[in-house]
Amino acid sequence: MKKAPEHSPYLFTVTEQKLIVGGKTLDELADELGQTPFYVYDKKLIQERIQLLRQNLPEKIKLHYAVKANPFAELLAFISPLVDGMDVASPAEMELAIAAGQSINNISFAGPGKTDKELQQAINAGITLNVESLNELQRIKQLCRDLAQKAYVAIRVNPDFELKSSGMTMAGGAKPFGIDSEQVPQVLEAMTDDSLVFRGLHIFWGSQNLNTDNIISAQQATFELARQLMKQSSLALKTLNIGGGFGIPYFPGDTPIDLARIKQALSQNMNSFTSTFPDTEVIIELGRFIVGEAGVYCSRVIDKKVSRGKTFVVVDGGMHHHLAASGNLGQVIRKNYPVLNASRVRDNPETQENVSIVGPLCTPLDILANNVSLPSPEIGDLIAVLQSGAYGASASPQGFLSHPAPIETLV
Ligand SMILES: *Cc1c(COP(=O)(O)O)cnc(C)c1O
Repeated sequence: MKKAPEHSPYLFTVTEQKLIVGGKTLDELADELGQTPFYVYDKKLIQERIQLLRQNLPEKIKLHYAVKANPFAELLAFISPLVDGMDVASPAEMELAIAAGQSINNISFAGPGKTDKELQQAINAGITLNVESLNELQRIKQLCRDLAQKAYVAIRVNPDFELKSSGMTMAGGAKPFGIDSEQVPQVLEAMTDDSLVFRGLHIFWGSQNLNTDNIISAQQATFELARQLMKQSSLALKTLNIGGGFGIPYFPGDTPIDLARIKQALSQNMNSFTSTFPDTEVIIELGRFIVGEAGVYCSRVIDKKVSRGKTFVVVDGGMHHHLAASGNLGQVIRKNYPVLNASRVRDNPETQENVSIVGPLCTPLDILANNVSLPSPEIGDLIAVLQSGAYGASASPQGFLSHPAPIETLV
């Protein structure tokens, strides 16, 4: 995987200046769907990405998909047979994973603040609960007694390691997620109850990480922590979920992670771990890395205006559909997602124009791209926001200003 230059079509192709997704221009897709804005996800790219992972992960590791990255039902049904399990964050995501054909045994449910009703749904379904606190574990036990049922439980661990050599805070310290590693021995003791079936540990240390060295050290520290935590316990470790964290490039200067190096280090770590824990299934869970680069958000230019020397291109989509691209989903300093004029991707350089692309909402936060140089957008052109397959539609405030929802399609 090479780093894509600014305003390249990334993994997509261009024919006669038009961006092609799944063999069609965005105009053709817009005609078929009968509307803009829309999200389009490319099956082939998702499949290739999963193949790439299979080739670059140790053979025995199980690959799970984190549903919250993109819970679009058709996409889940497509991914389901290609992965070994799904991780969900709510009962509704659980239902989606089941409807997509995922086996109950390979679905786990993480998240702080699971209500009794939600726990009950998960217990009834028979999926694994990733326990986030000692109180939650006590409530699970009580529910098991009330329901006369067993619960499959894993402990979500808030690790104690901090990673050196980068500015990225990944784990350690105070977190609402998981149980601090120093409290885990106590929770393991509380696991010995007839109503509970202990599955294992889930150690999630971060997201959107592009630093290969940090990923390697986090994985190593994860195996080490699991080893220490289980040393004192008589419980059998059936599963060890080592988290995910693989990032994708969004911004100029971002470079893709080096999967070959990760494979080498992970294989060594796994071999040494499974020599002590031969019956433990090791799981990696990824969301963004599987679907993020396979999606495009497409909107149409409605208006173009100049305000005191600055050119605004107003499109029919915006932050209510794609909060992340507007810069309002966790960015500290706003940066542009890669955007293209999908109707004239590589027009003659003389037609390049510096513009800001904004949505229809009456708030200055509704920006899709600020000061970008694009082949001059005309009214009716289609604007594509790339790298939009993860944390897009479902991570956006669609009710804000009550415009229609975007359509999603898998091609
Ligand atoms: C969100 C989440 C993921 C997925 O993270 P990505 O960065 O999309 O790969 C995995 N595991 C847990 C527990 C999560 O909360």
